Amino acid sequence: MKITFPHMGSLYIPVEALFQELGFEVVVPPPCTKRTLELGSRYSPEIACLPLKVMIGNYLEAAELGADTIAMIGGCGPCRLGYYAEVQRQILADLGSTLDMVVIETPLENPSRLARDAAKILGRGKLSRVPRALILAWEKLKACESLEKTALRVRPKEEKPGLTTRVLELALQKVRQAAAVRTVHKAVQEGIGELWAVQEKHGRQDPIIIGLVGEIYTVFEPFVNLRLEERLGHLGVEVARTISLVQWVKDHVFKGSIGLYRTTHLERSAEGFLSGFVGGHGLETIARSNELANCGAAGVVQILPFTCMPEVIAQAILPDVSRAKELPILSLVVDEHTGEAGFQTRIEAFVDLLSRKRREAYRGQTQSLFGSRCGFGQY
Ligand code: SF4
Repeated sequence: MKITFPHMGSLYIPVEALFQELGFEVVVPPPCTKRTLELGSRYSPEIACLPLKVMIGNYLEAAELGADTIAMIGGCGPCRLGYYAEVQRQILADLGSTLDMVVIETPLENPSRLARDAAKILGRGKLSRVPRALILAWEKLKACESLEKTALRVRPKEEKPGLTTRVLELALQKVRQAAAVRTVHKAVQEGIGELWAVQEKHGRQDPIIIGLVGEIYTVFEPFVNLRLEERLGHLGVEVARTISLVQWVKDHVFKGSIGLYRTTHLERSAEGFLSGFVGGHGLETIARSNELANCGAAGVVQILPFTCMPEVIAQAILPDVSRAKELPILSLVVDEHTGEAGFQTRIEAFVDLLSRKRREAYRGQTQSLFGSRCGFGQY
């Protein structure tokens, strides 16, 4: 079995480790490019959300490299994620593809299907490898997130433009190559040290902090968000990414699997604006924007794919949050037609607005809204 899976930022590093430790031959799809998107868009329904299209492109490119089985997560709830696997299976069948698809559901959603698919993936004899595989993948996931969060803090103060991204990429590759937990820890410690070293020695020490909220795939996949975090960093902005994959796994895989995950804390943070779960990260988007306003962020950027139902709901509510909290919020919608120039112009205009607000706040000796650090940037 040559197993593949869709890309989502650096998530391929822990997922590759997981399957390799389980004894599979892994085919990591080539990084997402225009070709990936073109392939996916050509064979997907036009109204499908962008992640589905890019994933179809990933599968087809992985199949060209010899993959024969796709591992994909399932889901349920108000948004379309729950249908992804079935729709993708149908698209591939219509194309005459021989790719097999294994859908991994959380146990409570579909216990019998999970058992069937786990047996299909693991087969006999591989069960003993599961604990080591899970531990290594978990450590790599945490390592990637720590490195990326450090890069977000360092980038606005980097000595040479683009240096943070290069150092980050090298550090991520060291984590990828690490074959044991000890080596992962060493790689992440060294990587964090190297990242802090790219800071300009006497440079600006108080970058503007902007919170990043939105749909999880567009937040994490740099190809679909047009490298948004890098663009903001190069404009002198420290990005506080409010979605954590480590937290997502803890909440939805560990706690969700045994029915212990609750959204009460999010509902409390979103109180007055949104009263419950609307699918995807819609509730998180409102709750985190509210929290960002309370902890001193200068502004919020929401990123979402065109037609993403949960984020469209959140987008309609965000102006209320913005007014109530006096917090500038920019919504960026992406799809296969998004142009780079217009995207960059909107970001630059938003950062200019925040910089001007800050200058005025300093000049007027008003209490600065921009002095404190957001909890999201800490780790
Ligand atoms: S969250 Fe949005 S983009 Fe993601 S699957 Fe649901 S509708 Fe599609």
